[in-house]
Amino acid sequence: MSDLDKLQERLGHRFGDAGLLEEALSHRSVGSRNYERLEFLGDGLLNFVITAELYRLRNDDEGSLTRLRASLVRESTLAAVARDLELGDVLRLGGGELASGGHERESILADVVESIIAAVFLDAGFDAAKSIVLRLLGKRLNQLPSGESLKDPKTRLQEWLQAKALERPTYEVVGTSGKAHELRFTVRCTSTSHALALEATASSRRKAEQQAASDMLERLDVQAVPA
Ligand code: MN
Repeated sequence: MSDLDKLQERLGHRFGDAGLLEEALSHRSVGSRNYERLEFLGDGLLNFVITAELYRLRNDDEGSLTRLRASLVRESTLAAVARDLELGDVLRLGGGELASGGHERESILADVVESIIAAVFLDAGFDAAKSIVLRLLGKRLNQLPSGESLKDPKTRLQEWLQAKALERPTYEVVGTSGKAHELRFTVRCTSTSHALALEATASSRRKAEQQAASDMLERLDVQAVPA
């Protein structure tokens, strides 16, 4: 059985037009007939199917749904799907990409998952494309964490304090260190209501704020609210 036959078996879809599958697997380094337009279409299909499925399955608010969707369609998730499918073995790459390990590059693997979804859509229609998306991501869809636990620490801390009608936390940069290109920021997070201030240091102000908020959540013993 050829590699492409095995792939179609893993996908649960046999292509009527095998050229579509070949195009979906071809990186631009092999020539003008490559997956880039398919990837564009697949990105839209994937987002739509995941959006509709999350809407059907979950009662989370819009912000949580957005974060849940992002966790499913992001590059690292799609690259993991690609590895499950052993796509690296069937990718078509040109010289430079081939030499530099393109078969394992997360961005390429993720793009090809999208292009395959589009290829299935063009080959057999929307229902077939939807089935592929659910086949590839169904397990991850059903194992998603609560929407609450996906929120960033600053948001969780603020919402937790608000729910208790307590004052919002404040953040201030209290120091920087290191040379210009590797500056470190120290941020102090203060919860007035708890008479508590914690400092955290990171490579950006934003990261230091998130770290300080995360430490504060831990100190206040705030657990993620289960869905
Ligand atoms: Mn992409």
